[in-house]
Amino acid sequence: MKIDTTGLSSFIPESEIFQWLEKTKNPEPERVREVIQKSLNKNRLDPEEMAILINAEDPALVEEIFEGARELKQRIYGNRIVLFAPLYIGNECINNCQYCGFRCTNKEVSRKTLTMPELDREIEALVKRGHKRLILVYGEHPQYAAQFIHDTVMEVYKQKHGNGEIRRVNINAAPLDIEGFKLVKSAGIGTYQIFQETYHQETYKQMHPSGPKSSFLWRLHGLDRAQQAGIDDVGIGALMGLFDWRFETMALLYHTIHLEEKFNVGPHTISFPRIEPAIGTAMCDRPPHEVSDYDFKRLVAILRLAVPYTGLILTCRESVELRNEIIQFGVSQIDAGSLNCATKSSSSAFRRLMPDQTSESAPIRRKMRNRIRRASLSSTMAVRSIRSSASCAKPTSFPASAPDATGSAAPASISWNSPFPVS
Ligand code: SF4
Repeated sequence: MKIDTTGLSSFIPESEIFQWLEKTKNPEPERVREVIQKSLNKNRLDPEEMAILINAEDPALVEEIFEGARELKQRIYGNRIVLFAPLYIGNECINNCQYCGFRCTNKEVSRKTLTMPELDREIEALVKRGHKRLILVYGEHPQYAAQFIHDTVMEVYKQKHGNGEIRRVNINAAPLDIEGFKLVKSAGIGTYQIFQETYHQETYKQMHPSGPKSSFLWRLHGLDRAQQAGIDDVGIGALMGLFDWRFETMALLYHTIHLEEKFNVGPHTISFPRIEPAIGTAMCDRPPHEVSDYDFKRLVAILRLAVPYTGLILTCRESVELRNEIIQFGVSQIDAGSLNCATKSSSSAFRRLMPDQTSESAPIRRKMRNRIRRASLSSTMAVRSIRSSASCAKPTSFPASAPDATGSAAPASISWNSPFPVS
């Protein structure tokens, strides 16, 4: 695949974003309430309106934003959450993302690509636990070309176990060319996700010094090519902590508007994982723009209000307490690992990476836990689980679920009552 960015330019207007953030400082409370009301009327917000919410820093106003997001979430999604199981196909990678333990220059991490028989075993175990929706995650590597992605998706759909099967396979993989996207689409995928990581070009350059991912424009236009190939179900995302969350949140809205204007359909989902520690990756211990829990809640609530009908994805890298709170005012989908994951989602992603990862045997589970402690993988690709959409969050029947190791069920969709039943 040849990376060709001829004729491409960025549709993220950096200086305009900074100007909106500057111009809307100290907004009048009435103006903030007007913006919240516009959202409660189920209208997408404009960048200026999002900037007003971002600049509403008075704690009482922030509480009104939280309350508005809670109400909107209830009106559109009710008490329902869509669950997805992340499944790592492989962590080989030729990129050098500075925040990721899977980067090619990191010699401390184990590399693994599931063989087809291993994949079959994983699918069987997941189906037996009642999973219906997966997201397959791939590093960026010649081994994981479009044909390989296509073949692994087909392999997943082929599996039937009793009355169970995987009905939706979403993809988190590298940006492809149009031909590649067409091939992957022909396998019948759900959402294709590409996270820009950071929309701030200078930061992007620093974080991606080599490999195909070093091309900001190729990645930025990746989902345009997916749309041109007929994939109209796409997911965007930013890794929070690389640059100012206010800028990234605004940029996610600009990306949404770009897709709406160009293809008449916005992204199906938006993800906003925060940086987590990763093996051999010192910068993750002190992210350049660390996002506090309070600001993280603000950005989720603001995104909820800005794009009422777009699915918001939360991974189980966040603490149980925070997840319980955030689910109420914004999130519509969550990593299925959140239901019984005592560690971070990156850990569950790592478990999924390993053969026999779904084995219930205590020795293997112990071994995995020890490996996780040692490896403590992170990174956006490691963690970006999940997706789906507003439409997926509508009432769905309880699937036939098999008990998991703890004896609990792993439904594909659940209704929740606070507190969210996370063990
Ligand atoms: S974030 Fe993705 S592309 Fe970058 S090094 Fe990690 S696995 Fe590779």
